[in-house]
Amino acid sequence: MFVFRQLFDPTSSTYTYLLADGGQAVLIDSVFEQTSRDTALLRELGLQLVATLDTHVHADHVTGAWLHRQRSGSCIVLSRAAGAVGADRLVTHGDTVSFGSRHLQARATPGHTQGCTTWVLDDASMAFTGDALLIRGCGRTDFQQGSASDLYASVHTQIFSLPAQCLLYPGHDYRGLTVSSVAEERSYNPRLGGSASVDDFTGYMHHLGLPHPKLIDRAVPANLRCGEPQHGLAPGAEPTWAPVTFTFGGLWEIAPDSLAEQFGLVQVVDVREPAEFNDSLGHIPGALLLPLAELEARSAELSRDRPVVAVCRSGARSAQACVLLTRAGFLQVANLAGGMLRWRAQGHGVEGGIA
Ligand code: FE
Repeated sequence: MFVFRQLFDPTSSTYTYLLADGGQAVLIDSVFEQTSRDTALLRELGLQLVATLDTHVHADHVTGAWLHRQRSGSCIVLSRAAGAVGADRLVTHGDTVSFGSRHLQARATPGHTQGCTTWVLDDASMAFTGDALLIRGCGRTDFQQGSASDLYASVHTQIFSLPAQCLLYPGHDYRGLTVSSVAEERSYNPRLGGSASVDDFTGYMHHLGLPHPKLIDRAVPANLRCGEPQHGLAPGAEPTWAPVTFTFGGLWEIAPDSLAEQFGLVQVVDVREPAEFNDSLGHIPGALLLPLAELEARSAELSRDRPVVAVCRSGARSAQACVLLTRAGFLQVANLAGGMLRWRAQGHGVEGGIA
């Protein structure tokens, strides 16, 4: 089964694309800070990440390629012309990357940077243009060996030559637009479409007057190492206090068995109503009752020095409790997956309740 997801990083307005077939996935233009999100989605969809592809060496965010390889053993794929070190596979125009029974083909589209690649799906139904072509726009050409005349040639020979109905997915959008098509951009791209000539385009690009990108001095050197941090250290964001997993919903979760092993080391906060705390499901021994509606006002009753696990009947209200606690500054917070229902179903002990 073919899977396609478009993901967004609000900090850099970057789109990351997940494509999968036969249980094998690739990510195009992953973002370092979103690695846990991507990993959770892959896990929840039952997909193995086989490769990370970048359309180019980005100046506005650090790629997640290196961190994904650390976590899942995925292959780092980048254009040879990008000039980066640390990739597992350097591709040139025409090379393909397979996942399941499908593949993406690289088209060299320099001009925004010298190593820009547009990735085209095998049936030419979708193309991932990076910053070579944006929706009704294009990437800038005034740094990273950019060239307006090269970009004009790339877009006209390699992107506008695709089938008219081919969907175009850009590397960024700053207005919330998500997808375009070859026919649309050929007609309506104000810089490159219609009857714009190469001279019209280069004249336009030379007078954009854009500010220096904020993150270029940090992002470009890191991306020339495929996103490996300067000292090769993985970020300290992964909690170590218990085997917790990050969900695609954006929360840390702990399984009942893992919570049982942490007994006495963590604070269990039950966010149900008092009547539920004492009814047939019972409650986890030692749990502190702090109903969800009172949680913010009474958060001082919890220690900030010990991890907090939130519990409710099914795990839904306690997920909201985790959001509130994190917002209140608690650093080690996890939701009990499946709540009291799963806790009991897996045979863990309760106080009160009916056996
Ligand atoms: Fe870029």
